[in-house]
Amino acid sequence: MALGTDWVLAWVRATAAVIAENRAELVRLDREIGDGDHGENLDRGFTAVLGKLDGLAPDATPADVLKLVATTLISTVGGAAGPLYGTAYLKASAAVKDSGELDPAALVAALTAARDGIVSRGKAEPGDKTMVDAWTPAVDAAAAAEQEGAEVGAILDAAASAAERGAAETEPLVARKGRASYLGERAIGHRDPGAQSSALILRAAADTAA
Ligand code: ADP
Ligand code: MG
Ligand code: MG
Repeated sequence: MALGTDWVLAWVRATAAVIAENRAELVRLDREIGDGDHGENLDRGFTAVLGKLDGLAPDATPADVLKLVATTLISTVGGAAGPLYGTAYLKASAAVKDSGELDPAALVAALTAARDGIVSRGKAEPGDKTMVDAWTPAVDAAAAAEQEGAEVGAILDAAASAAERGAAETEPLVARKGRASYLGERAIGHRDPGAQSSALILRAAADTAA
C-alpha cells in the first residue's frame, strides 16, 4: 500500500482539527515554560493552510501539498515553531519529489527529511527538551518498522507512538534550546509544547492512514 495526495490532504485537515482542539492545552504548556502562544501560533497557521487547500491544482502531488503547508506556516506561524515546522514540511516535500504516492521507503524518507530539517534549522539535540525529542524517536521507530517490512499505516502508528512517548519524556528535562532554556531547573516537570504538538501531528498522520 502507498499513500497519495488524498492522504496528504486528509492528514493536513486532521492536523488542523487536532491543533484547534488542543489549542488551549498547547497554550497552557507554553505558558508554563514559554510565552503562552504555541497553541495560538499553530492554530493560526493550520487555519490559514485550510483556507489555501482549495487553490491547489487538481493534479497536485503529495510534494505540492507539503510545500503549500510549508510556505503557509512560514508566513503565518511566526516565533520559533513557524520556521521549524515550515522547514520540516519543506524538506519532506523535497524528499518525496514528484512521486504520486508514498510507499514505505518514501514515507520514512519524508519523515527523516522533516526531522533533519528541524535539526539543521534549530540546532537542537535529543534531550534538549524541544520538538526534536518527539521527532527523533518517531523517525527511529518509523525506520525500524520499515526495515521489518511494515505497511505505511503501521509505520505511521509506530512513529506517532514513539513521538507521544518522546513528548512525555521531555517532562523531567532541563531545556537547552528555545525560551524554556532561560528557566533552568524551573522547566523541570513541564512538557515541551513543541514536542506535544509534534506528537499530535504524527498521530493525525497515523489516524488518517489507518
Ligand atoms: P516561541 O518560543 O517563539 O513563542 P512557539 O511557542 O510557537 O515559539 O514554539 C515553541 C516550541 O518551539 C518549543 O516548545 C520547542 O519545541 C520548539 N523550539 C524552540 N527552539 C527550538 C530549537 N532551537 N530547535 C527545535 N525546537 C525548538
Ligand atoms: Mg511560545
Ligand atoms: Mg512566541
